[in-house]
Amino acid sequence: MSTEEREELANLLLPDIKETPIDIEKRYPKRILKEGEKVTRFAPSPTGFMHIGNLESAFLDYIFASQSKGVFYVRVEDTDRERFVEGAEKLICDTLNEYGIMPEEGAFNGGKYGPYIQSERREIYQVYIKDLLKKGLAYPCFMTKEELDDIREGQELRKEALGVYGHYAVDRDLSLEEVKKHISNNDDYVIRIKSPGDINKQVVLHDLIKGDITLPENIIDEVIMKKDRLPTYHFAHIVDDFLMQTTVVIRGDEWVPSYPKHLQLSQILGFKTPKYAHYAPLTKKENGNTRKLSKRKDPEFSVGYYAEEGIPVEAVKLFLATIINTNFEEWYLQNSDKSYMDFQFSFKKMPTGGTLFDTEKLNNICRTYFSRLTAEEIYNDSLKYYRKYDEEFFDIMSKNKDRLIAFLNIERNGKRPRKDIATYKDVKIEASYMFDELFYNSETYSQIEKENDLDILNKYVDIYNEKDSQEEWYQKIQQLAESNGYAKTTKEYKENPNSYKGHIGTICEMIRHAVTGRKETPNLYDILKILGTSEIKMRIELYQK
Ligand code: GLU
Repeated sequence: MSTEEREELANLLLPDIKETPIDIEKRYPKRILKEGEKVTRFAPSPTGFMHIGNLESAFLDYIFASQSKGVFYVRVEDTDRERFVEGAEKLICDTLNEYGIMPEEGAFNGGKYGPYIQSERREIYQVYIKDLLKKGLAYPCFMTKEELDDIREGQELRKEALGVYGHYAVDRDLSLEEVKKHISNNDDYVIRIKSPGDINKQVVLHDLIKGDITLPENIIDEVIMKKDRLPTYHFAHIVDDFLMQTTVVIRGDEWVPSYPKHLQLSQILGFKTPKYAHYAPLTKKENGNTRKLSKRKDPEFSVGYYAEEGIPVEAVKLFLATIINTNFEEWYLQNSDKSYMDFQFSFKKMPTGGTLFDTEKLNNICRTYFSRLTAEEIYNDSLKYYRKYDEEFFDIMSKNKDRLIAFLNIERNGKRPRKDIATYKDVKIEASYMFDELFYNSETYSQIEKENDLDILNKYVDIYNEKDSQEEWYQKIQQLAESNGYAKTTKEYKENPNSYKGHIGTICEMIRHAVTGRKETPNLYDILKILGTSEIKMRIELYQK
């Protein structure tokens, strides 16, 4: 087609588009960035589900932008209308809010480089598409689904590369007259690029995480505008990352094979390409095999799971940080007073292969996280959790604030703070015996296997005094031991086990068991003191029935 014919073709297909790329680009002023400042974007598709991989993606964008003092923005990629779910954008926004990884600009808070929702940018894409049509770099393709299926079947049979390219791209050279005929027939069409790719050539992706990856050049005439006149993801994100001036595209490595396509689109459009960082997926081990985390099989895939399980937002972020950088965990364990943002994250320390989703690690991170909080902090954060998920315990907590805080404070401030709490759920589990409502009603209470030396428990009730210091308290139990056939120390017992009924530890265990129903608790002296004499008495009495 001559220049004039191409001009006519472009006006025929996109008559309402009057602007040129230059007009558009004037509306996107150059970002003023200092050396090293990164512009990153989280570009979710609104499918109505946020998974931990999405959260990781947003977290990465947030970290690398903030640590470089750059910009993190959110762009909603909703050009695939079939996958679109009403309300999905709210879920994304709420999740980012909940996790405190709010962007500087984007779909939820505006900014100078918008609109940040792709369906609102239809005309912008069409300006670039019209320009490509005029330049003869793109063309309308009227092939029907049946024709495309036929081509695919033949290619599959002959084991050829799949897609519309080379001699399969029959509409590449349609004359203007032929196009006009199709249009007057109202035939459906898409717009494809004329790929200049060569199957024998390769391109190199300089990936910030994975290093250099060599891939075959793209030869396919990719669709850039679909039948519904919206662009494809491939085209839209290239235009957007250019106009919004993304400097690093951080995304899942399922996009690596598409890189040649994206590079080619950038080149055809005359854009400078951003840098790329493709991160590995989260995986699980199953029957000796490694597989990707799945929506169907793994509840922890969904971001909603963490809130329901009572896993604090900060702990999830710490866990993500351990996934993101292999040297983070050690640093975190050594720096008890620091936040993850004090750690210098780098692409170089990101795992290049699949990253194991290690539930045990998550659990340990959670325990460490809780061990570094004050009792008041745990109380206040748990209260929010229980307000939403368990009204009964919320009421108990509200009525017994001092008691619960005192309980949470046991063994908290020493060198090795207790690590019995990994989730807000654990607060109830660990503290339940501190509250009569839960203690007597618990299943474990009726199942308590009674100790045989009830006599000693009765004697203990008579000598217990809540005013005693821990030392006096201990000495009293020692005396009780001595005068009732128990060894005062475990050492004495071990030297002569046959001469005793047990040792001081045996008595403490009996008391613990009668009063809490547990074999293990934080420091017994403190627990008894919080419960108080009358409750101890009552529990020991009932224990004997
Ligand atoms: N909308 C794409 C997705 O949800 C984003 C990929 C990208 O970050 O470029 O997978």
